[in-house]
Amino acid sequence: MTAVEIRQQFLQFFESKGHKIVPSAPMVVQNDPTLMFTNAGMNQFKDYFLGNKEAQVKRIADTQKCLRVSGKHNDLEEVGLDTYHHTMFEMLGNWSFGDYFKKDAINWAWELLTEVYKLPKDRLYATVFGGDESESLEKDNEAFELWNAHLPTDRVLDGSKKDNFWEMGDTGPCGPCSELHIDLRDEAEIAKVPGREMVNMGHPQVVEIWNLVFIQFNRVSDGSLKPLPAKHVDTGMGFERLVMALQGKKSNYDTDVFQPMIAVLSEKAGVAYGDDEKTDIAMRVISDHIRAISFAIADGQLPSNVKAGYVIRRILRRAVRYGYTFLKFNEPFLHTLVPVLSDQFAGVFPELVGQKDFIAKVIFEEETSFLRTLDKGLKRIEVIKQSLKGNEISGAVAFELYDTYGFPLDLTALIARENGLTVDEAGFQAEMQQQKDRSKKSSKVSTGDWVEVKQEEELGFIGYDNLEAVAQVVKYREI
Ligand code: ATP
Ligand code: MG
Ligand code: MG
Ligand code: MG
Repeated sequence: MTAVEIRQQFLQFFESKGHKIVPSAPMVVQNDPTLMFTNAGMNQFKDYFLGNKEAQVKRIADTQKCLRVSGKHNDLEEVGLDTYHHTMFEMLGNWSFGDYFKKDAINWAWELLTEVYKLPKDRLYATVFGGDESESLEKDNEAFELWNAHLPTDRVLDGSKKDNFWEMGDTGPCGPCSELHIDLRDEAEIAKVPGREMVNMGHPQVVEIWNLVFIQFNRVSDGSLKPLPAKHVDTGMGFERLVMALQGKKSNYDTDVFQPMIAVLSEKAGVAYGDDEKTDIAMRVISDHIRAISFAIADGQLPSNVKAGYVIRRILRRAVRYGYTFLKFNEPFLHTLVPVLSDQFAGVFPELVGQKDFIAKVIFEEETSFLRTLDKGLKRIEVIKQSLKGNEISGAVAFELYDTYGFPLDLTALIARENGLTVDEAGFQAEMQQQKDRSKKSSKVSTGDWVEVKQEEELGFIGYDNLEAVAQVVKYREI
């Protein structure tokens, strides 16, 4: 089954259960001070759970573009090193707003996975909330019984409050959740250690695929829990992980979600995927990051030096450096990958096709400008390494790399790690603060390639030398 068919079947299945299929919300969140990027399918429905709005449609399903690179959910450092955490991924979800509850949610999840997708039943595990004494909360027996009707008792595991009790914040809607995990290891591996011992261990082939949240309480300001008059269901399933399970692969990157991109990278680099750990990681990171960057730009977030824009710039520079160091891409290359993505998602996320030239252009400008200083920065690190006394790169040096060569702190930290070094991050922040204080005095200074511009509270470098790209952005925003 192809990824396209797998996504389609999910949506069709929930449509057949009376759900309305809605489009993904943008991955970039506007007008919410608490969140920069959509990190779960439920984000766009937050107001229904909070009771601020009443849902006109009680059953909804979709595939949501998510980005987990900041705040509570930050998987950036995992990407490429493990095989199942991405920056940008699709979360398939179904919701009930005060309509069906645990029974239907659990039975439908089971029906979809085992009857429609035909995943092997003896490879599945469910977790339920096991209770919490400090809150006088009981185990979620209702969920246990429902799973136990499908799975033997030893494959319905108790989970802790941390993993199996979901809360939106310090106050607000919350409730127990159930996760489904799948064991994709070889028989021989399973014989050695049973799957139930691997669940929650972060094993690359024993992965969480679906989380079903049962929102039944409201946490009020004194910390106590009150039952909600209307109970809700909020589920999220990792699409790329589901595809891995259904296509019988051991890594998300081996599925047809990522293979077309990896094939292009491998061809460009003249290196086969699977030949070498370092080039493999680079191909995985780039094929992941290009998705995050392209969808962010498509949703209106340009790389910049502040806030969400800087998150995107950091991801982009990280991708450029992986290409430069490990695949020997010393010319701009990321922008050439945009058409591969836009073709792949043409029927699902048309925002890429419509803007592919624009997206490619923005990326080209960014990578061109970073490639101008990347090599000098890397050489500088080599020199620093030689003269280093201990194994820590000082805050002043990290700041010099940032200031002169455009190296985000996390990129310096990554390169440091690769060399067995650390970075004095507090020292870097102190340097940064001094720079901000200085810049309050002078409003505009030119420093070589980078034009330093004073903004309200923040200070940044504008990476665009070509103002045409910026003009286009303004035009796009107005539409
Ligand atoms: P994990 O424990 O694997 O980090 P999670 O518990 O943080 O996952 P949830 O917040 O429950 O994830 O999100 C719902 C589903 O989304 C998960 O069951 C998983 O299949 C998928 N998912 C979560 N994070 C990622 C990611 N970074 N990349 C790909 N899929 C993800
Ligand atoms: Mg996680
Ligand atoms: Mg988890
Ligand atoms: Mg989870």
